[in-house]
Amino acid sequence: MAIPQSFIQELLARADVVDIVGRYVQLKKGGANFMGLCPFHGEKSPSFSVSPAKQFYHCFGCGKNGNAISFLMDHAGMSFVESVKDLAQQYGMQVPDDEISPQERLKAAEQREKQSTLTTVLEKAGEAYRKQLKASAQAVAYLKGRGLSGNIARQFGLGYAPPGWRTLAGVFPNYDDPMLVESGMVILQAEDGADEKRYDRFRDRIMFPIRNIKGECIGFGGRVLGDEKPKYLNSPETPVFSKGRELYGLFEARQALRETGYALVTEGYMDVVALAQLGFPNAVATLGTACTPDHIRKLFRFTDTVVFSFDGDSAGRRAARKALDAALPFATDERSVKFLFLPAEHDPDSFIRTLGQEAFARQVSEATPLSRFLVEAARDGCDMASAEGRALLASRAKPLWLQLPDGALKRQLLGEIADLVQLDGRELTELWLPGAAKQRGSDTENYKKNSKNAIYSGAQSPFQPKSGALSGRVRGRALPTSRADHAVRLLMTDMVALQSLSAEEHAMLCDLPPPHGAVFVWLEGQLQEHGAQPWAALREALRGTELEALADRLMDQDALGAPESAGDASEELRRLLDRMLIERLKSEETQMIQAAQTDPSALMRYRDIQLRRRQLESTLDPAERP
Ligand SMILES: [Zn+2]
Repeated sequence: MAIPQSFIQELLARADVVDIVGRYVQLKKGGANFMGLCPFHGEKSPSFSVSPAKQFYHCFGCGKNGNAISFLMDHAGMSFVESVKDLAQQYGMQVPDDEISPQERLKAAEQREKQSTLTTVLEKAGEAYRKQLKASAQAVAYLKGRGLSGNIARQFGLGYAPPGWRTLAGVFPNYDDPMLVESGMVILQAEDGADEKRYDRFRDRIMFPIRNIKGECIGFGGRVLGDEKPKYLNSPETPVFSKGRELYGLFEARQALRETGYALVTEGYMDVVALAQLGFPNAVATLGTACTPDHIRKLFRFTDTVVFSFDGDSAGRRAARKALDAALPFATDERSVKFLFLPAEHDPDSFIRTLGQEAFARQVSEATPLSRFLVEAARDGCDMASAEGRALLASRAKPLWLQLPDGALKRQLLGEIADLVQLDGRELTELWLPGAAKQRGSDTENYKKNSKNAIYSGAQSPFQPKSGALSGRVRGRALPTSRADHAVRLLMTDMVALQSLSAEEHAMLCDLPPPHGAVFVWLEGQLQEHGAQPWAALREALRGTELEALADRLMDQDALGAPESAGDASEELRRLLDRMLIERLKSEETQMIQAAQTDPSALMRYRDIQLRRRQLESTLDPAERP
């Protein structure tokens, strides 16, 4: 019986090895792990350790190690399939039928094949639209009228879909190809009994190709030239295009995001292109939907600061509220989220054309920070002069506040809200987190919470004391072969930490030379697809990949020598990343010095890099400074 690997992975992410082992072995908590007498060899003092974070057990005496499934096999004498079935039953999961698995594999392969075919179809259509734009004086005049240069039009690959019903038949000789319908470019109308009708979805519109982060065309937005309705039309959802996940202009803006240090999220593709024309190449837009957590996660891969720009009307306010909800779980202390409300009569384009670039830049820098917008949103309509009104504010602010990740921002906001509702901080904490003190009990419980819905880390006690000094054991541990190795270990052990990385740190890890860079790219993909998982589940996902051997070597060396507490691990990761960044900046400095011999601007860049490095170095312990 072949059980799909993905199922094993999911099962291991859901099962708790501490529970399973705990049924056969008496376990006692010791630091971050549980210890007991090894069931695989005779001993008097415990050397058998079970890690709730990794979901792995390891015996320091006889070397036996493994996950929940292998424990049932080795200790309870079950076969692999029996163990999986047994575990699945305990966790209420249905083992998929073996008949399905080869079919499913085939289906997945077909899916991938189809996606690449769809992209090819869309690219081809985009190319045809660009040619049509050159041929249409009317369309060119429209873009010029909007103040767009030929350069910007080229950069965004703008095109034009002529008015005819079957223009694309001239591009795709087989107009009946089902791929044209599936790509969303052709609409198929099947009337009862009558013949099917096919026609182009986009007619007489300026065409904006929507690109994924690899630069592939995955859909289109089309805008009418006049006032017809609908003004904007998008590709439908297809196997390659999902509105809730894609941002228009992200591919084109990615360089500018790094350079300007922030992303400007606007309401439409015309805004994005106009802003690029007017000196703000760092703008992106959602595609006719409210901002989703997927959008925000994607943006924070490229920058640490996101500024949402909305029209000042009530629709704009509503959209801002949705963006706030989506952004809260991602608002760590290193990141910044702001809300910009333009005067009701303006969009970004008209604002800049009327009041100038500088005035707009000022608006951006004075945008409302998330903390203030959160309070404003909660206070809206509350009568602050009455106890009832203040209580209403508190009850509205609570679900928002709870979504924030733990950190200084969250704690300060608690104080601020407490002042507003005339309670002291302790009282408000008791009101909002009655179980806070009790929750500190079990690390396993916390992990489970993290892995189920990792971004909602607000559900844990935010007042867990951070352990300041590192334990001697962490310091005294054998030095890892390289910092990159060590970073792999720490992040494979605690995937939740991956979400708190800054864009700079994320880029550094993914850019590492092979094989480490590839490991982080892979790990990031796992996080996006499956959420945070324990090492036991990651190990399953790695099976058969090129990274398997490397990951095994690194994780094996580490055995279960985890830091005493989660605080130690995050402190360790932080210091490690700082030092890796410093290393990377140093090598960039060297490159810039060399480049400066032929390019004077490299010297400026060199100074910036040096400044950033010194800034990082000043945060290190004096004893560790180079
Ligand atoms: Zn043993």
